[in-house]
Amino acid sequence: MSVLRSCVFHGVTRPFYWRHRETTKELVSGFAAALLCGLRSKSSLPDVRERTLIAVKPDGVHRRLVGQIIQRFEQRGFKLVGLKMLQVSDDLLAQHYCHLRTKPFYPSLQEYMTLGPVVAMVWEGHNVVQTSRTMVGHTNPAEAQSGTVRGDFSIHVSRNVVHASDSREGAEREIQLWFQGKELLNWDSCDQTITCEP
Ligand code: UDP
Ligand code: MG
Repeated sequence: MSVLRSCVFHGVTRPFYWRHRETTKELVSGFAAALLCGLRSKSSLPDVRERTLIAVKPDGVHRRLVGQIIQRFEQRGFKLVGLKMLQVSDDLLAQHYCHLRTKPFYPSLQEYMTLGPVVAMVWEGHNVVQTSRTMVGHTNPAEAQSGTVRGDFSIHVSRNVVHASDSREGAEREIQLWFQGKELLNWDSCDQTITCEP
């Protein structure tokens, strides 16, 4: 086997190298430069690692709206890094909505959020927190613009189909609450430099 390998090297590779050594050197140095350039442009990318929690609430799941909601985020150019379906516990809900626990509507909110499963997702991309709030629309669907998720699929504040984190700090807190680190994937989508200017 090693005799065969050495024959192939001496018979094919070495003559080829000597005949084309200048081109080969150029190719190797060009490849190294391209690699370096790729690394540099990657480090100067804008903040595409921002993440937010989006959850299709039980009314959205019952009404088979999960696919349409996911499609809006994919279409916009955001990247899905976490996804799961779960029955929300009273404890998780109390932590998630800790700022609303003293509100008179909290008991009905609790009942609503446990009517069935929720589909929780983490989406990533440039300015995803603010952009997704705009895509989701006003808390009260009666005031939500057409074209927003709430404006297109709901009519009353007590059944507004979807949750979206309202700030970067809130998103970080909620993602940690709903997901374990190992449930989130770090991956590079091939369109990253096409959808966001380096
Ligand atoms: N909610 C409600 N009645 C109200 C206000 C809020 O049932 O008068 C519910 C509604 O489902 C809303 C959730 O509580 O989405 C959380 O309220 P928040 O003010 O955080 O609004 P959001 O961030 O969801 O737009
Ligand atoms: Mg909120």
